[in-house]
Amino acid sequence: SRSRVRRGASSARLVVLAGPTAVGKGTVAGYIREHYPQVLLSVSATTRAPRPGEIEGVSYFFVDDAEFDRMVEAGELLEWAVVHNAYRYGTPRGPVEAALARGDSVLLEIDIQGARAVRRSMPQARLVFLLPPTWDELVRRLIGRGTESPAEQARRLETAKLELAAQEEFDYRVVNHDVAEAAREVVDLMNLRREPQLP
Ligand code: 5GP
Repeated sequence: SRSRVRRGASSARLVVLAGPTAVGKGTVAGYIREHYPQVLLSVSATTRAPRPGEIEGVSYFFVDDAEFDRMVEAGELLEWAVVHNAYRYGTPRGPVEAALARGDSVLLEIDIQGARAVRRSMPQARLVFLLPPTWDELVRRLIGRGTESPAEQARRLETAKLELAAQEEFDYRVVNHDVAEAAREVVDLMNLRREPQLP
C-alpha cells in the first residue's frame, strides 16, 4: 500500500468521483473505503430517508429540511445540489478541509452538478468521471439493482444520457468494468504528481 512518508498539503489530493446514475459510483467508493483506509471518503448530508442497511454518519448524515437549510445558511457545505429532482445532498466542508490540511487525500462521491461546483470553489480538485463499459450495461445495472420503479428508471436513463455528455468536462475517465480495478485506478489518480494528458 501507499507510503505515508510524504505528507503535507502539497501531496493531499481532493478527488471527485462522479458519473451517470447506476454506473457504480457508490460501489467503487465503498470499495475504496474498505480497502484504502488512507483515503477519507466524505460523508454527505441528505434530506432523503435512509434505505434499509444504511448507517447514520457512515452512509450519510440524514437530516430534515430545516437542518439542511441551516447548514446551507451557515456555510457548512462545500457544495450541495438537488439530485434527481427530489432530495438535497451536500458535502460538509469541515472534514474535507481538515483532512486536506492534515495532508490526507479526500474522495467525494457526488453528482455531476456537485462536481462542477467543486471545480469552481476548489480548482485544485481532480475530477474523475466513471463510465459504464457500454450503454446496455448501464441499463442492465439500473434495472438489475431494482431500487427504482419502472417510471423512475426511465427518468434516470433520460438523465444518464445528458450526464454522459458531461464527461468532456472532467480531468480523467475511468471505465467501471470491475470494481476493484476501477477503485485502484481512482486511488492511483490521487497519487499522481503530474497533470495527465487527456486521452
Ligand atoms: P443516492 O440517493 O442513490 O444515495 O444518491 C443519489 C445521488 O446523489 C448520487 O448520484 C450521488 O452521487 C449523489 N450525491 C450523494 N452525495 C452528494 C453530495 O454531497 N453532493 C452532491 N452534489 N451529490 C451527492
